[in-house]
Amino acid sequence: MLFKIPSIERLIHELSRLPGIGEKSAQRLAYFILKNKEDFPEKLSLALQSLRTNVSVCKTCYNYTEITDICEVCDSSSRSRKQICVVEEAFDIAKIEAYGKFRGLYHVLGGSLSPLHGVGPDNLKIKELLKRLEASKTDGNPVEEVILALDADLEGDTTALFIAKQLEGQGIRVSRLAYGIPFGSDIDYIDNRTLGKAFENRVELECHL
Ligand SMILES: [Zn+2]
Repeated sequence: MLFKIPSIERLIHELSRLPGIGEKSAQRLAYFILKNKEDFPEKLSLALQSLRTNVSVCKTCYNYTEITDICEVCDSSSRSRKQICVVEEAFDIAKIEAYGKFRGLYHVLGGSLSPLHGVGPDNLKIKELLKRLEASKTDGNPVEEVILALDADLEGDTTALFIAKQLEGQGIRVSRLAYGIPFGSDIDYIDNRTLGKAFENRVELECHL
């Protein structure tokens, strides 16, 4: 029988619950922690505890926030109130913020519509988005555009269509991030669906000769 150390096995088990971490990676991480057990476990545990006590969800956009009820973006006076970028998960915001060109607000849905997996409109923050848009009309700062930064898959498409339908006739522009051929890739390596979308989202070339 294989010799096992219960504490290490327990750590491997917990680490392998993390997304994208298989048994092998969990083992590697566990042995790294073990090798650095003088300081790393304590630092990691403090970081996890601080996450638990200090981080909550923003009451307006459902992004994560530290200590305060309203996140830094919602609270900032330098952000435009006219645009709301709708994302599936809070970590999508970090990516858009790193890009650095979007100066509006966000709204985190908490996933995407997936009838197959039992995720309906009530499981996402869609109602909250509609309420937020409605409230913006009365507070004198109406939202003019909702940008759907959703995944380019079936669930993302379903969610985008559902939200667009809800906002029909409200005078709010609903846009979706363009998708198509990734930068630097060859057309012969692109799958049919991506190529189809790239055709649909083609842009006019401006030639100034
Ligand atoms: Zn917020």
